[in-house]
Amino acid sequence: MRLRHLAMALSNLPPHPQRDASLEQYATEGDFAARWIAEIVEQGDLETGTRVVDLGAGNGILGIGCLLAGADSVLLVEQDPQCVHEYEGVEWLIGDVKGWSGTDVDLVIMNPPWGVQIAMADRPFLEAAFSSEARVIYLLHSAKASHIENLAKSFDWGGEVVLSGSFRLPAKYEHHSSHQGMTEVAVWRFKRN
Ligand code: SAH
Repeated sequence: MRLRHLAMALSNLPPHPQRDASLEQYATEGDFAARWIAEIVEQGDLETGTRVVDLGAGNGILGIGCLLAGADSVLLVEQDPQCVHEYEGVEWLIGDVKGWSGTDVDLVIMNPPWGVQIAMADRPFLEAAFSSEARVIYLLHSAKASHIENLAKSFDWGGEVVLSGSFRLPAKYEHHSSHQGMTEVAVWRFKRN
């Protein structure tokens, strides 16, 4: 699928309701999601048979992006039932990320809570991914986060930033942003050491 078509398909998903500030919902926009998925394809991480799990999936934009780019199966793990919608070819696990088994997965993709509103809210996500059976993990986080590399290392994973950009924040989070409701983000790619 062409990048522009992927971006359009992802932009047309039902929007993340972004109602629950306590769940730290910074939704990814279609254009950025499409660039990210293109990078995953480029890296050769979505070859035939790839089973994808999207942790803290929101409206499923990242997992559905992987599906459209050829993933074999996609599981969307999301605590907020308001985010859930029917989409052919994906399954939902509605509940806390801690309830995910970590099995039957090749690639984890996630833009989890960043732990800005609630300290350490990202930790259960990082721990779930790094202790899962996945062979590759993609993570979007605040570019300011400084704990990620060491945390990965403690689980014997190594990573690098493969994509950077800026995110528009929902109005209710704006006091945390550097200027005009935008904040810098980084996408990491992790492999086992
Ligand atoms: N991945 C989506 C949503 C990002 S916002 C996107 O990129 O657009 C982070 C999501 O994690 C929110 O939808 C929030 O409801 C969900 N979330 C927060 N804490 C959670 C938890 N403990 N278990 C599962 N999902 C959680």
